[in-house]
Amino acid sequence: MDIRINDLVKRIPGTGDFISIDKEKCTMCERCLIICVANLWKKKKDHVYIVDDYQSKCLECAACYQVCEPGAIDFQYPAGGTGVVFEKG
Ligand code: SF4
Ligand code: SF4
Repeated sequence: MDIRINDLVKRIPGTGDFISIDKEKCTMCERCLIICVANLWKKKKDHVYIVDDYQSKCLECAACYQVCEPGAIDFQYPAGGTGVVFEKG
């Protein structure tokens, strides 16, 4: 059976931005790209970024924040009960 992560959660809209990157601190180590199970981090020639629609796809695991040794990634849980809700599993 093919199970997709987004079939296991629901999302409360209105999160606003809750992840940001400080490009000055980023060393291009790519750990965020490797760790993100939702595949939301991307790399261009000279910088790393998170996809524009991450608010509706992020699982709020904070793994990217944890592995970013230079502290280039800032992560805050979305405010006011918005964001992802895990319903199963
Ligand atoms: S983990 Fe941090 S330093 Fe490494 S590429 Fe991602 S944002 Fe840059
Ligand atoms: S919090 Fe988790 S799912 Fe969201 S971007 Fe970071 S690693 Fe990916």
